[in-house]
Amino acid sequence: MAEFERQVGAVEWRNREQRLKLIGVVCDCCNLKIFPPTIVCPDCSSEVTTKFAFSGRGEIYTYTTQLPPPGKEEDGPKTIAIIKLVEGPFLAAQITDLANPFDPQDRLNSSKPLEIGTQVEMVTRIVNKNGDRGIINYSYKFRPVELKSL
Ligand SMILES: [Zn+2]
Repeated sequence: MAEFERQVGAVEWRNREQRLKLIGVVCDCCNLKIFPPTIVCPDCSSEVTTKFAFSGRGEIYTYTTQLPPPGKEEDGPKTIAIIKLVEGPFLAAQITDLANPFDPQDRLNSSKPLEIGTQVEMVTRIVNKNGDRGIINYSYKFRPVELKSL
């Protein structure tokens, strides 16, 4: 188990800029912004080496709510969305800061329901823990923008 925890920690360490700062790459040839980062542009096949910091702003393209598996009811449901970043790329991420995750229509202190097109922003949150004394892994999640003013 300890071996597995070290491996998970190494992956998190290698991907820390991507997961904590939403760092991708931009193609110097065609200016395509790419996330997650890659080494070859999917549009023009040029080598890509220039980092690009995404704004973390975007909108919900589609979403679904997953119920926890049997025996993990305490984890609660998760709302997962495909998000279209304002710079262009799509990514999958959990939607957080929902007052009642069982019902994405019920948002914290907001009369507006979660829906396709809802503006969202990146936040950094715990995604998992390796036991009580193991590594705590953080990554990006997204929340509705209206919540920022609370
Ligand atoms: Zn390109």
